[in-house]
Amino acid sequence: MANTPTASRMPSDIPAQPTPEMEDVDAFRERARAWLAARMKPLPPGEWEIPNRDTDEGVQHARDLMAKLFDAGFSGICFPKEYGGQGLSVAHMRAWSEEAQRYEMPTKFNIPTLTILLPTLLDYGTEAQKQEHIPKTLRGEEMWVQFLSEPTGGSDLAGALTKATRDGDVYVLSGSKIWSSGAYRADYALCLCRTNWDVQKHRGLSVLLVKIHQPGIQVEQIRQINGSMEFCQEFFDDVPIPADQLVGEEDDGWTVVSRLLQHERSAVGNGSAFGVIMQLGARRTRGETTDPLVDITKQLGLGADPTTRQLVAEGRVLSLVQPALVDRVGTGIRAGKLPGPSSALMKLANATTGIARAELAVKIAGSAAAAWVEPGPASQQAGVFLSRQTAALAGGSNEIQRNIISERVLGMPREFAPDKDAAFKDVKRNTIPTRKP
Ligand SMILES: Cc1cc2nc3c(=O)[nH]c(=O)nc-3n(C[C@H](O)[C@H](O)[C@H](O)COP(=O)(O)OP(=O)(O)OC[C@H]3O[C@@H](n4cnc5c(N)ncnc54)[C@H](O)[C@@H]3O)c2cc1C
Repeated sequence: MANTPTASRMPSDIPAQPTPEMEDVDAFRERARAWLAARMKPLPPGEWEIPNRDTDEGVQHARDLMAKLFDAGFSGICFPKEYGGQGLSVAHMRAWSEEAQRYEMPTKFNIPTLTILLPTLLDYGTEAQKQEHIPKTLRGEEMWVQFLSEPTGGSDLAGALTKATRDGDVYVLSGSKIWSSGAYRADYALCLCRTNWDVQKHRGLSVLLVKIHQPGIQVEQIRQINGSMEFCQEFFDDVPIPADQLVGEEDDGWTVVSRLLQHERSAVGNGSAFGVIMQLGARRTRGETTDPLVDITKQLGLGADPTTRQLVAEGRVLSLVQPALVDRVGTGIRAGKLPGPSSALMKLANATTGIARAELAVKIAGSAAAAWVEPGPASQQAGVFLSRQTAALAGGSNEIQRNIISERVLGMPREFAPDKDAAFKDVKRNTIPTRKP
């Protein structure tokens, strides 16, 4: 990797280790441990999330927990103090996460609010935007969502058709976004839109900070085959967005969104230190083994079966290698030794590991995964198996991650793009609705 470019440091590039003015990590850990034991509710045995995480009550509970963490000085461990965070290092975040992960935590805020959108705002927002939004979000008063994908396709992000036309001191927003997770109960979005049609497609984009619930914005929930209604489609019907809600420079939204995608890949790959806790890869803490593959094996009494033991071992290897890779790549990016797009490695590893382990779980569980036998880990595996591809799509598909790794990490030739040099107004494209058909 000797010829890879070195990423320049950004406000969200927080130190891996404590700097001299920070609290000692062990002292911080002790303080956190005592506060958690005194003030937070432990999760029920075997549970990793607060109950009903995706319901209205669960989300309100997460908002209340954020406020509680904020009041106690444990919200935004790695966010700068001037915006209400604790200004600490990744080492502090690890210590906090190890202590906090067995308690009720508002992890609903992790993706995309804390790990993707706030770090992007930290990097490219105006001082007024940061002062207005970061403290409120760290108190649980604001939840965020990303408006990137469009009905015409998500992989070709730079081909966005939603437009924002400058008119005096507002941008007039029109078009549609889709697959926005949880937009119906979120408060703000970062929205990628086209502000210039006379230049090449990557050069005419901008990012706007958009208040979601306002006249002219229609938010429609989409029902999935599993009954979930988290995905939304939004329609923008000439919505005036104040010009001071521009994030980054006009027509330079590609720079902003590229950084957002780095944060997203790092978050989805379990490498972000900006959440309420850091996902520590394999679910292990304080020496406990809580691997679902082991749990299924125990439930079905297959511990002595050699084939099952081989499958469990395969799964264990994957769940040890993946966090090691995340650590290695995350440290490399933070230290400026690896280019930012290397976060695609984390995301790809997370997706492929998740898919492989879901398949191993079904192989071990056999018919117990498909037919309900008794409550327990085996009967949960069919749902996990059916949803296993989500991580290979959300935040950019596996194919797109492989393209990024080959072109922007390994420096291989770029994929052919016939529209690369044309003005976007001359590129053949679909149309985009501004109201629900
Ligand atoms: C759980 C989940 C949550 C999501 N949350 C959000 C969200 O909050 N906000 C948001 O904006 N979007 C969100 N998305 C949408 C996601 O970003 C898109 O699904 C993704 O970018 C792919 O876009 P697409 O679905 O339009 O597929 P398409 O872009 O139509 O791609 C279809 C297929 O073609 C392949 N392909 C496309 N182009 C290439 C290429 N150049 N080279 C090789 N293969 C290619 C893709 O890999 C894919 O397999 C979410 C998706 C999921 C699954």
